Amino acid sequence: MEYSGRLYGDREGAALPVTVRIAGNYMVVTAPGRAPMRWRLSRILLTDPNAFIYEEEKRGDTGEKHRYHLRFADPGTFEHVRAQVASAKLLPRDSGTRENFIWLVAGVAFIALFWWCWPYLSDPISAHIPASAEAALGTMALSEMEEKAPRCTGAPGAQGLLDGIAARLLASRKDGPQVDVRVLYAPGTVNAMALPGGHLVIYSGLVDAAESPDELAGVMAHELGHVIHRHPIRGMVRNSGFSLLMRMLFGSHISGSITRSLLTNIYSRDFERQADAEGLLLLKDAHIGNGGFAQFFARLEAKQSSFEGSPLFVYFTDHPALSERRAAITLSGPSVPPVTTEAEWQALRQICAPEAREAGGHVRKIR
Ligand SMILES: [Zn+2]
Repeated sequence: MEYSGRLYGDREGAALPVTVRIAGNYMVVTAPGRAPMRWRLSRILLTDPNAFIYEEEKRGDTGEKHRYHLRFADPGTFEHVRAQVASAKLLPRDSGTRENFIWLVAGVAFIALFWWCWPYLSDPISAHIPASAEAALGTMALSEMEEKAPRCTGAPGAQGLLDGIAARLLASRKDGPQVDVRVLYAPGTVNAMALPGGHLVIYSGLVDAAESPDELAGVMAHELGHVIHRHPIRGMVRNSGFSLLMRMLFGSHISGSITRSLLTNIYSRDFERQADAEGLLLLKDAHIGNGGFAQFFARLEAKQSSFEGSPLFVYFTDHPALSERRAAITLSGPSVPPVTTEAEWQALRQICAPEAREAGGHVRKIR
């Protein structure tokens, strides 16, 4: 609302017609053809019963003070504006600064509370992430991985054999996940991981390190356990979700951080136990002996001392407490019928033969 008044005491001495409005903590006084003056309401003096008095500090060389008198012809308007000025003066002097400070403290407290509750919130939050978003995250991480380690497209039939093992493992699950299994070329890197959206990535170093199809099937069963329980997305939200959320709120680009957090997702022990238990069930239901699963880990464990800290055995370091886990496995006999024939196994192991790597893929060592 705008009021008309007269301003006295300006440099010219004569009264100036002005318009007046209240904007937040300020009274904005505008004389025609001049820049509006902003008077802080708390600094307006109410000592004159008929006028508002405002002293402006002049910062010029003279240090001269201007003292303005603002009057309204209509007493009703004057009283109305006076009431607004009076109520503004009741607020603490530096209310703006204090308010900001209160908001800052409240904000920090809220973030701290959120951070503290995060472990309890992360699972319900992950449950609401739509499958399409999960698939998009998986695809994003996968394409970044394949830039460093190209996909092996397989000697004839090799991919089919791999898909066959996954299908056999999941055959007992009517509403099981749709999975995509692929081998990436990274010789010497003994690692495998599940990504959101049902992607199961096996590095060629792990295929080379496996001594039988049962061993490979064991690792795949464990990773499928992670897929079935949505560990990749739950782990990402649990481990990095809070910092990703904060970065998102403060306007950072987070796509690189999402991929990094997916690739370095280290699961909690409860996730590993759940994946083990699920994997063993999958093996049992698929009539695949779990001896290979146990044997593979035992071999990696035996090599641990000589490969301590080596990136070659990432799978081992990402999966702690192997001896404890092996102890929990009741060994069953070998697979009947075998997971693959010996000839098929040899074909599968050729999945990354030089001529079988994806054309144009630039081979680089990962990590
Ligand atoms: Zn695992």
